Amino acid sequence: MAMSGNGSAVVPAEVDVAVVGAGFSGLYMLYRLRELGFSAMAFDEAGDVGGTWYWNRYPGARCDIPTTDYSYGFDPQLEKDWTWSEKYATQPEILAYLQHVADRYDLRRDIRFGIRITAAVWDEASRRWRLRTSHGDEVSCRYYIMASGCLSLPKTPDIEGVDRYRGEVYLTGRWPHDRVDFSGKRVAVVGTGSSGIQCIPLIAREAARLTVFQRTPNFSVPAHNGAPPPDRLARLAADRDGYREAARWSRGGIPVELTDVSGVTAPEDVRRQRFEGAWQAGELFAILGVFNDQGVNPVSNELVAEMIREKIRAIVSDPDTAEALCPKDHPFGTKRPCLDTSYFETFNLPHVRLVDLRRTPIVTVTEAGINTVEESFEFDAIVFATGFDAMTGPLVSVAVTGAGGVTLEDKWEHGPATYLGLMTTGFPNLFMITGPQSPSVLSNMVVSIEQHIDWTADCLQRLRAENLDRIEPTPLAEAGWVQHSRDCADITLYPRANSWYMGANVPGKPRVFLPYIGGVDAYRRACQEVAENGLMGFRLDGPAGARCHDGVIRRIQPDVAIVLDLMASLGLPPVETMNVADARAFAEATAATMPPGPAVGEITDAVLPGPAGDVAYRLYRPPSAGPHPLIAYFHGGGWVLGSQHSDEPFCRDLCLRTGAVVISVNYRHAPEDRFPAAADDAFAAVQWMAANAAGLGGIPGQLTVAGWSAGGSLAAITCQLARDAGGPDIASQLLLTPVTDCDLGRASYSGNGEGFVLTAALMRWFWDHYAGEADRANPKASPLRGTLAGLPPAVVVTAEFDPLRDEGEAYAEALAAAGVPVRHIRARGHIHTSLTMVDAVISGAPVRAEMAEALGSFRPAPVQI
Ligand code: NAP
Repeated sequence: MAMSGNGSAVVPAEVDVAVVGAGFSGLYMLYRLRELGFSAMAFDEAGDVGGTWYWNRYPGARCDIPTTDYSYGFDPQLEKDWTWSEKYATQPEILAYLQHVADRYDLRRDIRFGIRITAAVWDEASRRWRLRTSHGDEVSCRYYIMASGCLSLPKTPDIEGVDRYRGEVYLTGRWPHDRVDFSGKRVAVVGTGSSGIQCIPLIAREAARLTVFQRTPNFSVPAHNGAPPPDRLARLAADRDGYREAARWSRGGIPVELTDVSGVTAPEDVRRQRFEGAWQAGELFAILGVFNDQGVNPVSNELVAEMIREKIRAIVSDPDTAEALCPKDHPFGTKRPCLDTSYFETFNLPHVRLVDLRRTPIVTVTEAGINTVEESFEFDAIVFATGFDAMTGPLVSVAVTGAGGVTLEDKWEHGPATYLGLMTTGFPNLFMITGPQSPSVLSNMVVSIEQHIDWTADCLQRLRAENLDRIEPTPLAEAGWVQHSRDCADITLYPRANSWYMGANVPGKPRVFLPYIGGVDAYRRACQEVAENGLMGFRLDGPAGARCHDGVIRRIQPDVAIVLDLMASLGLPPVETMNVADARAFAEATAATMPPGPAVGEITDAVLPGPAGDVAYRLYRPPSAGPHPLIAYFHGGGWVLGSQHSDEPFCRDLCLRTGAVVISVNYRHAPEDRFPAAADDAFAAVQWMAANAAGLGGIPGQLTVAGWSAGGSLAAITCQLARDAGGPDIASQLLLTPVTDCDLGRASYSGNGEGFVLTAALMRWFWDHYAGEADRANPKASPLRGTLAGLPPAVVVTAEFDPLRDEGEAYAEALAAAGVPVRHIRARGHIHTSLTMVDAVISGAPVRAEMAEALGSFRPAPVQI
C-alpha cells in the first residue's frame, strides 16, 4: 500500500472507510469498523479527540443532558469504569471521558489529527471516494463517513467592523487552550444562546465590568447542578440494560415518563404544580414536557412561557432589565432552551449590564470596542458567543462532488434533502452521522449517534456479506423522507421561530427545519423497517449485481399515525361486529373524547319539518355580524350512526373558516329507516333552509350543501334532486370523503380496506343496513350513477388512505367531465376520519383551510333583493 507522510503520522493512500471527525461519533464509528474488520482511518482538524468538547473550552461549558445519559451505552464495562462527578459534567471532564475512551480501545492509532478533509470526489469507475486533505494528501476509500458533528462550524460574527477591533477577541466555539484571565478587565459578551448563558456568570466573577449584548432573549431554566441524580443512578444500577434500551426507544433519547396533561384543559393548580416540578428538576426534557400539547398548541405553550417569564421577573431586580431578558418573540422550546447556573442572577451584580440590541442595535465594532446607536463602549476583551452554521454547515464545508459532478452545496442550495438523515441521493457510499432530517440535536446526541453508527455499521457489513459495494438512496425514497420530516415539523410550533434549527441564524441560509422532530423512537422504528425490508429505498450495486426495493417508508401523516397506534393499542372490537345500539353508543363515546373544536358565535338547537315528521338540527353561527352564507351539513356515520351534533368539531371549524352559518341536520337513520329516508330528509331540509334563509341569518342565494362520508353522499344527491326539481338554487357543494357509489371493488377498497379506521368490512355493514341490493345502484343511493351536468360547483376532498378514495376521485372526475366546476383536494397521508378530528389531527388543518378557500372561490355575489 502506498503511504505518504504527515509528520510522524502516516496517511494511508487507501482504506475501506474514511471517517471525518474524532468526537463522540468518530470514536464509536472507528470502534465498530475495527470490530467488523474494515480498514478505517479518521481525520480531525483538532489536536486530539473530543470533537465539540475539544473546541468549546469557554468558562462554564457543560453538557445540558445529564451525564449519566450523555454517555456511551455500547459497552457495559466502559460504564462500570467511569463515574461522573456531577449531574452536568464540565467540558474538561467530558473531554477526559472521550480521551479515556480513545485510550481504552486504542483508537488514536487510526486517527490523524491536525488534518482537515478539504475535498471529496466520487469516482464512479472505481466506485470509491477520493478525499483530499489539508496537507495535500489523497486518500481513496470505498465508504466516506461524515462524523463531523452538528454544531462544529462556528459562525463568523456577522457584525460590521469586527476585524477592526484591537483588543482580545474570543469565540466560544474556538476557545484557547490556555486559561484566559479576565480579572480586572472590561469584557463584552455578544450572544445569549446556550454558550453565552453558560459563560456569562463565570466571566462576571472575574471581570471588572461585563457588558452583555443581547439580540434575542432566550428561555433558560436553572440546571440545579450537583451530584448525579441518585434516582437515575439507582435505576441504572438496578437494570442498566433495561435503562439503556428504554432510552433507545424513548422520544428524546432519555427514558422519561410522558404526560397526558394538556395545558389547555388542565386546571390552574395542576398547571402550576407541573411547571414547578419541571423548574425544580432542572432538566430540558422536564421543562419541554410540562404539558403534552405545549409543542403544538400556542395556548398551552404560552402558559409555560409566561410562567418562565414570571420567574425571570422575580429573579432580576431591575424591572427594565428583567423585561428585556423575557423572551417574547418565539414559542417556548422552538429555539433551544438553555440550562443555566445563576444566569439571570448575574444581572443583579453592580458591574454587569445588559444592552438590548433590539432597542439599541450595534452600529459597528470599533478599534476600542462596540458602538450602538446610542453609546460608545470600550472593552479589553470581546467574547463572541454567536453560534454555529448548524447541521449542514460542517457537511458542505468540505467540497463534496458526487456522481454526475454535482456538489453537495449545490444540491442543498434550497435546503438539505436526505434519506433518513443518513445518506443523500447522488452521493453514493457517503454516510452522515446525525445528518439533517435525523433526530440529532433534538435528542440526547449520544443515543442518536450510537443508533446511526450501529445502522451504518450493520449496513456496511451486510453489503460486504452480499458482495455489494455501492449504496445510494433513490429519489423517491429521499423525497418521501424529506416530505415526512417536513410533515412532522409542520404540526409543531418549531417552524415559527428564527432559530438555528431553521437555519435562520445564518444570513442567506435556506429557511427549512433541519432536524427530524418525530422522535427517537419513531425514527429508530423507521430505520429498522428500512433495513428489514431489504434496505428499502436504496439502490444497491456490486459484483453480485444490482437490486432495489424502492418505496417510501412513511407516507401517513405523523399525527394520524399516532392516532392509529393509539387505537391499535386499545384493542377495540370492530364496529361491524357490534349490534346497532352498541355501535351507536361506541361512536358517541368516542366522539366525546375528542377536543370540542373552536368556539363559534352561537350554537342553537331546533327542528325543521321533514317528510316524516320533525328533523332536529344544530345551528352554528359565526361570531361576526350577519347575515352570513348558509351551509346545510350532513354528518357522517354510514347512514346508521351519528346525529346533528356528532361532527361538532368539524362544524365549528367549518363555520369559522367559511364565515357561514352551518346547519347540521339529523336525518333519519337506518336500519330503522332505510333507503331513501335519509336522502328524502336531506332534500327536504335543504328546501326548507333555502325558503327560510333570511330568518336563519343567511344571505339568500348563498346556500352550500355539504357532508362527510355518507353525509357527503346525501349532499351530492341533494344537489341532483334540486337540479331535477328546478330548485332550490344551490351555490356550491362540499363533499368530504364522500360515498358516491355502491361498487366496493375499487382499488382503494383493497389497498385501504383495513387498518385505517373506516374499513371495507364496516362499509359493507353500513350498506347492508341502509339499502337492499336492488336500491343501491339508484342514483339516490349512488350519486356517481346519476346525471351530473348542471350541478353546482363542487369541492371534493379525498383522503389517500381511505377505502372511499377512488369513488370520491371518480366523482370529481365525472363532475369535471360533465362540465361542473370542481376543486378536487387530495388529502395526502390522511385517512377517512382525519379531517373531522379537529385539534386532534393537526395536519388536517391546512386541508380544511384549502377546502374553505375553495368554497369561497365558488361563492356567488349576494343576491340583491
Ligand atoms: P446560538 O444558540 O445560536 O446563540 C447565538 C447567540 O448569538 C444568539 O443569542 C444570537 O442572537 C446571537 N447572535 C448571533 N449573531 C449575532 C449578531 N450578529 N449580533 C448580535 N447577536 C448575535 O449559539 P450557541 O449559544 O453557541 O448554542 C448553539 C447550540 O449549541 C445550542 O442551542 C445547543 O444546542 C448547543 N450548546 C449546548 C450547550 C450545552 O449546554 N451543552 C452549550 C453551548 C451550546 P439571535 O438569537 O438573535 O440570533
